Amino acid sequence: MPIKHSSALPPEMLRVFETLPQPYLILSKELYILTASNAYLQLTGKLRAELLEKHLFDVFPKKPDWAADEGGIAFSLEQVLETDKPHQLPVTRFDTPDHEGKLQERYWDTAHTPVLDPDGDICYIIHHTQDVTEKVIAERNLNASLEKEKAAAAKAGQLRRQMEKLFDEIPAQIAIFTGPDLVYEFINPQYEKEFFPGRKILGKPLLMAMPEIVGLPVWEAVQHVYKTGETYAGNEICVPLTSEIGGKTEDHYFNFIYQAIRDEKGNITGVLSFKYDITELVMAKKRLEQTSKELLALNEGLAHANEEIQVTSEEIQSANEELSATNEELFRTQQNLLKLNNELESRVELRTLELLTAQGEATGQTERLKRFFMQAPAGICVLDGPNFIFELANPPYQKLFPGRKLIGRPLLEALPELKDQLIWDILKNVYKTGNTFEGKELLVPMAREANGPIEDRYFTFIYQARYDATDKVDGIMVFVFEVTEAVLVRKKEKENEERFRFLLNAMPQQVWTARPNGKLDYVNEVICEDFGRSAEDIIGQGWQTFIHPDDQQACLKKWLTALRTGHEYLVEFRLKFQDGQYRWHLARAVPLIENGEIKLWLGTNTNIDIQKNNEQKKDEFLSIASHELKTPLTSIKAFNQLMMRINDPPKLNDLIQKSAAHVLRLEKLISDLLDVSRINAGKMDYNMETFNFYEMLKDTIDGVQHTTASHQIILQSAENITYTGDRFRLEQVVNNLLTNAIKYSPEANTVIVNCALHEDNSLIVSVQDFGIGIEEKNLSRLFERYYRVDNTAMRFEGLGLGLFISAEILKRHNGSFWIESTPGAGSTFFFRLLTHQTQKQATIIQGDLYYHDSAITLSYNHVHSRIDADWTGFQNLESIQQGCHHMLNMMVKNNVYKVLNNNIHVLGNWSEAIDWVAQEWFPAMQKAGLRYFAWVNSPSVFNQLSARKSVNALPHKMTINFFTDVISAETWINEQ
Ligand code: ADP
Repeated sequence: MPIKHSSALPPEMLRVFETLPQPYLILSKELYILTASNAYLQLTGKLRAELLEKHLFDVFPKKPDWAADEGGIAFSLEQVLETDKPHQLPVTRFDTPDHEGKLQERYWDTAHTPVLDPDGDICYIIHHTQDVTEKVIAERNLNASLEKEKAAAAKAGQLRRQMEKLFDEIPAQIAIFTGPDLVYEFINPQYEKEFFPGRKILGKPLLMAMPEIVGLPVWEAVQHVYKTGETYAGNEICVPLTSEIGGKTEDHYFNFIYQAIRDEKGNITGVLSFKYDITELVMAKKRLEQTSKELLALNEGLAHANEEIQVTSEEIQSANEELSATNEELFRTQQNLLKLNNELESRVELRTLELLTAQGEATGQTERLKRFFMQAPAGICVLDGPNFIFELANPPYQKLFPGRKLIGRPLLEALPELKDQLIWDILKNVYKTGNTFEGKELLVPMAREANGPIEDRYFTFIYQARYDATDKVDGIMVFVFEVTEAVLVRKKEKENEERFRFLLNAMPQQVWTARPNGKLDYVNEVICEDFGRSAEDIIGQGWQTFIHPDDQQACLKKWLTALRTGHEYLVEFRLKFQDGQYRWHLARAVPLIENGEIKLWLGTNTNIDIQKNNEQKKDEFLSIASHELKTPLTSIKAFNQLMMRINDPPKLNDLIQKSAAHVLRLEKLISDLLDVSRINAGKMDYNMETFNFYEMLKDTIDGVQHTTASHQIILQSAENITYTGDRFRLEQVVNNLLTNAIKYSPEANTVIVNCALHEDNSLIVSVQDFGIGIEEKNLSRLFERYYRVDNTAMRFEGLGLGLFISAEILKRHNGSFWIESTPGAGSTFFFRLLTHQTQKQATIIQGDLYYHDSAITLSYNHVHSRIDADWTGFQNLESIQQGCHHMLNMMVKNNVYKVLNNNIHVLGNWSEAIDWVAQEWFPAMQKAGLRYFAWVNSPSVFNQLSARKSVNALPHKMTINFFTDVISAETWINEQ
């Protein structure tokens, strides 16, 4: 084939070209290869002979895709031929075979330059190509890596936002300190709220913000972490904190972790502090330990829980170690990457500083977040996607469900018991809306181990949405503490507190508590009832309002001494009750001491009014008694002295007689005193025997008559009857009544005695005098010990014991007693004894409309819709209970609410039934519907007193009116 070329090259030029160190071809205008540089031959792997004088496209055939490839070489050459100007091709891929003949991916940078003759025509074209494969591939790799970095940077931003959000919302205190001075670089809202409410601490060194921690173990710990990089985890660590500078410190308790923060080179730049406040739990635990022994068992549980916490922190420790190993590896990989990148950088010089930082930050953030998750002393997990697949769960989270497989499983598969629970809906809602949910002490019944029993467990937690790069929710981050223990402890504490309050209230006396400074802070219901005021009122006012002014100073002095010394407080004072009366109380308070510190004062006020009055009476009595004893003694002494001086027998005899009377009086006083002490000790002996009652009466009268010249004792009527009882004691009773009758009727000269057998076979004895009489108001108390009517006490000798002893003797004989008296006219003392003679059998008629027995007649009054009750004769507890029972029945059966109760025919005294009537019968009647009760009094004042006494303490829901005659009683009840 003839060589067609525009012009040949001179041979020396050819050689110059051949030796050029760059790949060149020289082409003729017709595109025949005139020569090729050695470098070109080397590049293409061809021999010079294969090329010389050949048409370019014969050696390198046109490829169909060349045309598409922005024109390719053919296009470039055409451009040169047309324009006579050089043409540069874009980098073109043109694969060439390697030494084994396999095609290799190659990129070329090609240019064509025309060589013009003096006329400006093209004589040659220089084809210059360069293999840029390496550069292209490096560039491509770099681009890919830049893309990745961009994505990583975006992700890092996302993570940072996520982390900040989490930090803002988790119920734990988080702070980041940087630099050797540990300057506050970041704090979350909880941290600020807990430690420095309302103060700006960002940018301040830790010690400046919180000077109170110097010398505390936490300060040592945080410095140690900064120096060594070792993570520090503490449980239940006490930190005394003030809410303001210079304020009082209070103990707070935390579980916390200090963790070093490193830069990408691994240097420590700061410390992350993660705490959560467990003061409440620790305090509750402390209080509980101190206040309740019952909780020993629970304490064991606590110890167990502590062990678990221990184990958890050990796990955290080991996780930490593992992580730091992983970290090192990651660090090395990072170093390698950095090295590679640097090489790349030097080769392509394209890397931007900004992206480099982004990459560092991305790795750092991810790493830091993950490390934080794994080491946080609270449960954290990440649930991925709409099926909530456990993507990550840190050891404390796993610890909540020991042994249950979580990672990689959907939530409902891993923890199926959540399915029907509210919490499941909440979770789905957070995923749907992206709104964070914070649960506080929520009850979530769950099993611990797989197939374990479902337990009531309480959790405080946060569900927070996680977002993907397009800001769509793609998962949930869960942050959780189990607070079951704290909730249970608090519950138990509340129960204890309630039980404590219940006990305090149940105590039948005034109970109160005061703070260590003495301020009253609790009063029980008894106090409120006594003072007729609310607890708040009483606590607000303190005791002063209620203590008698005369007792206040002494009481205050003792209270202040007790508060100062911590010793028992014991004082007697008078308290003013709601009825305006002062009552004596014994106040006693003891401090409740915990750990050597007074926590509370527990006090009681015991009503000692009766004792106090008795004491007073006793004192009075003792002075009377000594006076009474002294009088006959002085006389005896005087007679004795006279006797020693006189020799005249008749005079002597007279003196002996007189002296004997005083001895007798002395003897009587002493025996009365002995009797009282016997009665008090329940040791009064009775010798029951059958004797002739009439004889006993007669003998006693004779005995007394013997001692008096002023009065004549007349036995008006007497039954000759035998009676079984203590003759001696009954003699004492009659003797007492007779001597009183004489003593208290100094102006009169007769005493009348009657003894009659009543139709119910009871024996009724009366002793009537015409003396000073007794006022109604004094009647009911005459039979009390030491009781003496005021205006008589000064005029008459006596100890106020005779009637008390007599009443006791009669009670022991199942007898009763009463008095009828008119002041200035005289008194009649009665007593009644049951004889053992067969009683006449009383007829009983029983029906819903009518009832009759010996003690009562009951009838339903249809016209006025009421029950009429007519009591007759002597009553005792038994007869009254029976009659009352029938009255109640008839009222219910006939559905009425009014009663006309007639006592006009009642004899004697029924005081023994007062308590039963007041406490049982009237409340039952009220319950059965009683609204109006017209009570016609018995003429006996003694009975009237009993009736009044029985309605004294009744509620006001029914109306009870007393009348002296039946007509007015009927008028009133019919109007109701
Ligand atoms: P004493 O007579 O030693 O004082 P009592 O127990 O016998 O003690 O009597 C108690 C009080 O009852 C007396 O102090 C007196 O006030 C009153 N009293 C007793 N009997 C009569 C009476 N017949 N008339 C008036 N008052 C009486």
